[in-house]
Amino acid sequence: MTDDTIFDKIIRREIPSDILYEDDDVLAFSDVNPQAPVHFLVIPKQRIATLNDLQPEHAELVGKLVLTARQLAADKGLAEDGYRLVMNCNDHGGQTVFHIHLHVLGGRPMGWPPG
Ligand code: 5GP
Repeated sequence: MTDDTIFDKIIRREIPSDILYEDDDVLAFSDVNPQAPVHFLVIPKQRIATLNDLQPEHAELVGKLVLTARQLAADKGLAEDGYRLVMNCNDHGGQTVFHIHLHVLGGRPMGWPPG
């Protein structure tokens, strides 16, 4: 498929990744270039390129991304100290993979505002 991204290859197990959770709708795996002691991504299996492409019918799926992130963060012991969820959109947002994904970052204090 021409508009495949690296994440489609991870979903299809064509490239290896450290998969933390999977169901029919979502996949979670460790980020290959972690920016914090804990850094994983939660993605829909359905490819949606950017946040700009979200439609009302995706509401349940987006909710599931957040709830999956919340559960995995709790499983990793991040709930009490806290953690950060990030979704980057396009150039100014710093998006590099055009398949929406929720970053989950934790294990250290996060600065604010972001650079
Ligand atoms: P973005 O910059 O689009 O918000 O985030 C893309 C993320 O995907 C980056 O944090 C990057 O490290 C991660 N990433 C890119 N390629 C791979 C890969 O092949 N495997 C894994 N596990 N993560 C990747």
